Amino acid sequence: MSVKILSEARKEPIEARPPANVKPHLWLPLDKTSVLEMQLAEDHPITAYVNKHAEAKMRNHALSMRHDTLEVMGLMLGEVRTWRGKEYILVRDVITSDLDATSVSVKFDSSGFEKLFEKLDGAGFDYVIVGWYHSHPGYGCFMSETDLKTHASAFVSPHHIAMVIDPKNFDIAAFRLKDGKGVETDFAVYWDEYDDPYGGLKRIPKN
Ligand SMILES: [Zn+2]
Repeated sequence: MSVKILSEARKEPIEARPPANVKPHLWLPLDKTSVLEMQLAEDHPITAYVNKHAEAKMRNHALSMRHDTLEVMGLMLGEVRTWRGKEYILVRDVITSDLDATSVSVKFDSSGFEKLFEKLDGAGFDYVIVGWYHSHPGYGCFMSETDLKTHASAFVSPHHIAMVIDPKNFDIAAFRLKDGKGVETDFAVYWDEYDDPYGGLKRIPKN
């Protein structure tokens, strides 16, 4: 991504407890899952909480190009919050647009920016851009030199993360930029109570 599009004003993060319903991503290896489960059990926030619908959109976007072996990308929208002096982010939704992609590169198509801005306008909530996602079909999750440059030029806030998804190996990881390097950071999937299709009922009452 070569154009700088992120100019939103930095809002003061609100103090709020992280989501209550959280789980490690199903694609995480077991060792990372058990470490994360211990972290989630504590009353300290981890780096990022990704809404399950946003997670499904990113994952399915990457999976949709799995057989064509094309990269995908998009922006993550959400909130920056603090809890007990630690900053964390909520990824509430993701958006994408027309892409110019190969198996090892991706950027927004020149015509894609207008659509992207329309989607940002229509986000339906007061968002902050909290990062970006893209896929590495078949070659693992890491930050390439190009990814590091993209991140350093367009995602300059300390809360910005990069989510990398490998839809062929079913691998996913989140990164932050530290001293010019991509450092893996922790994230979990959350859902809201009202996402439960049965509203907490064990069975649907019949008249
Ligand atoms: Zn990449």
